[in-house]
Formats: sequence, C-alpha cells, structure tokens
Amino acid sequence: MTIHFDRKQVHDDLHSPSAPAVLDSSMRRAVEHKHAAQALIAWDELRERAHEIKAYAIEHLDELLVRFESEFIARGGRVLWTQTADEAASRFLDICRTHGARSVVKGKSMVSEELELNARLTAAGIDPVETDLGEYIVQLAGERPTHIIAPAIHMSRQDVGSLFERKLKVDYTDDPEVLSEIARVRLRQRYLDAGVGMTGANFGIAETGTVVVVENEGNGGLSSQAPPVQIVVMGIEKVIPTLDDLIVFLQLLARSGTGQKMSTYVHHFLGPVDGRAMYCIFVDAGRTALLADPVARESLYCIRCGACLNVCPIYRRVGGGAYGWVYPGPIGSVITPSMVGVEDAGELPFASTLCGACAVECPVKIDLPHLLVHQRARAVDEGAASSPFENAAVASWTRAMSSSRGYSFAVLAARVGGAASSMLPWISPAARAWSKERSMPKVASMTFKDWWRER
Ligand code: SF4
Repeated sequence: MTIHFDRKQVHDDLHSPSAPAVLDSSMRRAVEHKHAAQALIAWDELRERAHEIKAYAIEHLDELLVRFESEFIARGGRVLWTQTADEAASRFLDICRTHGARSVVKGKSMVSEELELNARLTAAGIDPVETDLGEYIVQLAGERPTHIIAPAIHMSRQDVGSLFERKLKVDYTDDPEVLSEIARVRLRQRYLDAGVGMTGANFGIAETGTVVVVENEGNGGLSSQAPPVQIVVMGIEKVIPTLDDLIVFLQLLARSGTGQKMSTYVHHFLGPVDGRAMYCIFVDAGRTALLADPVARESLYCIRCGACLNVCPIYRRVGGGAYGWVYPGPIGSVITPSMVGVEDAGELPFASTLCGACAVECPVKIDLPHLLVHQRARAVDEGAASSPFENAAVASWTRAMSSSRGYSFAVLAARVGGAASSMLPWISPAARAWSKERSMPKVASMTFKDWWRER
C-alpha cells in the first residue's frame, strides 16, 4: 500500500467553491472554543503533567499492558493481542462468527479505520453500522473520515441534507436538529438488532483494567451496552497507569477536541455485566515500529484530540482526504510513515510548513515539527522522498553558500535564471510541478553585498 499526498484531491479541494471556506470557518471556530476553554484552567501545568504521564506510560508500556490484561481478565473480560491490522480484523470476525452476529454497531474508532473493518465485515456478510453522527454521514457517503474527531467536517449541512435525501429517501432539509433526529430514529433499532457492539478506547487504565470511552452523543454507550457482546478495539499506546492520571487527560481532551470543559459522557467499562461477553483486542499495527524509534516514539503520546489539525495551514486548506490514509494533519504525517513503512508513505512529512502551530496547541506537548523533520530525514535517507532534480539543487545550493565567490556566482546565476524562469517548466517534471503554482522570486537589483561595498 503506497500512500501519496493525493494531488488530485488537493487540486479539487483548493479549487472547490465551498470546501476550503467550510473547513476554514469550522477550524477557526474550533480553535476559538479551545482557547476559551483552556483559559479557565492551569493549562501549561496540565500539559506538562500529561507529557510526563505519557512519557512514563510509553517507557513502561510492556508492564502496563500486562497489568491491564490481568485486571481486565479478573473482571471477566477476554484479551486478544494482535500484531497487524489484518490479524486484528480477523480476530474481530472470529468473535462475530462465534456469537452468530449478523450486524455490528460501531462507536467512533479511528483504529477500526486502520483495520478497514467495515469492508472486512461487509465482505463476510456482517452489516457494520456507524453510530457516531459524523461517521454515519461519511459511511452513507461512501467516504472515509477526514478529521480525527469530526469525521464529516468537510461537508456543509446542505451537503448532508442532500445526502440524506438521496440515501435515506427523506425530504430535503438542512436543519441540523432535524437531520440529527432522522439519524437517531434510523439508528435506534439498529442498536437493538445488533449481535455485537464495538467501541474504540480513549484510555485503558492499567491499575483497574478499565476501558474509558469519551464521547458526546451517547452512541458509544448504546453501542457498547445494547448488544449482548462488546468488543473494544484498542491501540496498545492507549494504556495509562492510574485513574488519577485519567483526570489530567479528561481536562485536556475535551478542551482540545471540542472546546468543552468536559465531554458529555465518560464511560468506564469495568468488564462484562448481566451475562454479556466483553473482549479487548490490543492492536499493534505499526505502533512498536514507532516505539522502537527513539525520536518518533513521542508521537505515541497522542490522545487523538485533533487540535493539531485545526491549526495546520496545510490541513485547513486541503482537508483530510488529501493525506491518503487514516490519520491526516501533522500527527498523521508523523505516524503514518512508521506505521505503514517509510518507503510507502515517506512523502507525507513534507506536507507541512513547519510553522510550529501544531506544537503550540498539542495538549500533551508533542514536538510535532521536530518529529516531522525527523521523518523527512528518514524518508530522504531511505530513498523514499528525494528526486535527482532536488538532490542536484540542494548540492548546488550547498556549494554556493560555502564560499563568498560561490555566493556571488549564485546571485549572478539567479539573475540570469530569474530572467529565464519561463523556461522552468521545460527543465524537468519536478520543475514543471513547482512552477505551476509559484513564480520564481526576483533577485533585488542591488544586493546587500553590493550595497555594503558601495558604502
Ligand atoms: S498530536 Fe497532539 S494535538 Fe495532534 S491529535 Fe495528538 S494530542 Fe492532539
């Protein structure tokens, strides 16, 4: 699976009459709400504490996972360890078959996107039903979520109205309350009919074996509790040591994700009740590759709040569909190359201006620009993201900047090159692509060196 920054999608998004405006105004609102909510607490101290807890948790992941497992089993749950997304999806299907499930209701879970669970379930004759409103919308549209916490952020309410009219055969409306009600009525019976309910996990508490799910719509609670079987699909990095640690993250997650002081629902699942079955599937799927990298492992501190997407000037212009895989934005550009292989996704870390806004907003203080540069270096070193044209240009630049004579020659060449910039498209495909959206900067008629010499 090779993942490219999707140029066609970028072009379409940039030239769409409405998409960039819809996205940009949503992002602007999200950032304003976040800043207002974070101003009410000791934000910097909490971020610092969250960073320390995650650093400890990732350093002691082996012990914490085993502790979680033994507590979870002691409460009557079953744990399955899986190395790949394929394996995790297969184990999920095995459980569905064991319990004779014909349909699965799903709470919001980005890990299930990694597993391509909907496609795998459908192929096996089991009906997957997304129950988070945004996920429900993108499932109806046959699309992938374009934001970590707001899957349908790229769509306007008019888009959703038309989609419901087309797919659900209802009268057109773009009233958000009516649209929510339509979805609510459709989904209610699905919870009752489903053989299996699935959720992700925002946190796993090692000391108690608790699965914590944070949500706003109530669909996570219904998905997990209405069907007779509950399956939690959890990335292995989600485990934190204690319930006290959770308090730190709950304050940060709601504020960073949605600008709320607290999420509407915080579920603590403590094992199966009333004769029901509960499983937890631990998913590695590339996370140990991140763990093995002393620099990139910091990305495992991520609590998937989406705040870095909301301020990223690239994400805000092109949206999540352009990133080509499950996780968009700055965090996606860091983790994807390690999770799927730098040879297959080495291009993504270059989709950043390195402006640093993501690091300022991140509630767990992940140094995202540093990690992006690290992943760029890996991509170049491993031959996944360099072109002969670029290599030659950088080598020439290095030579030119290494001596006074080289610099003077470079200025002369730039003057001549600037005059001949209309020739750029003919030099190489890379030069053609570069010059399509940009014009060559002009060299000043008098350089600083000339000016200095004259005086
Ligand atoms: S990297 Fe930070 S800001 Fe981005 S999603 Fe993860 S926790 Fe949120």
